[in-house]
Amino acid sequence: MRISVAIDGPAGAGKSTIAKLIADRFSLMYINTGSMYRAVTLKALEKGISPNDTEGVCTIIENLNMHFNNDRLILNGEDVNDLITVPEISHNVSAYASIKEVREKLVKLMQQMAKEYDVIMDGRDIGTVVLKNAPFKFFLTASPKERASRRYNELTSKGLDVVYEEILKDIIRRDDLDTNREVDPLRKADDAIEIDTTGIGIDEVVNKIASFIK
Ligand code: C5P
Repeated sequence: MRISVAIDGPAGAGKSTIAKLIADRFSLMYINTGSMYRAVTLKALEKGISPNDTEGVCTIIENLNMHFNNDRLILNGEDVNDLITVPEISHNVSAYASIKEVREKLVKLMQQMAKEYDVIMDGRDIGTVVLKNAPFKFFLTASPKERASRRYNELTSKGLDVVYEEILKDIIRRDDLDTNREVDPLRKADDAIEIDTTGIGIDEVVNKIASFIK
């Protein structure tokens, strides 16, 4: 039987950093589902297709080939990670991610990956929708200010010129859109273990999660 681990939570809660470390420790494939929504957003913006054009966005998805190489998303043969983590994509992604048909297509793809591999997936609806039957579910949170400063440090370390207040504003806006959308909103699964990572070191969180998986 395949192993699956679900990690959900708002932007900047530490999901991807922690999921990567757990993936290494337990030899799981790490699937960053946010990057799949980001990839759709990247292509839609490139082609000038708005989130109101459901058919246009769905056609884009049909022509996308996505797979993961370690933690990097390969889109139609190209490593697009640097292109999808910029503020412009972060600002627009929630609008595309709220389209029901987009979610149906991507969720199917995610579930197919979980059938083929032992996975750890992070996102917003992994424990509630994508891997509803996962034996291990975690919900990570942290205060908005802490999440914004983590994102700020991540982006400035890549050499991007960003403003902390703008990032904080965008994170709060994105939390609101992701939590209040109609389809598969950001929500803790009833059987998920909640961990507040505010002021806690990465190792401590990883060890805590690892202790449950063992
Ligand atoms: O995790 P990350 O911040 O990269 O996710 C980007 C966006 O993709 C989220 O703000 C959310 O709108 C969307 N998302 C989602 N469901 C997931 C993963 C991400 O709606 N499972």
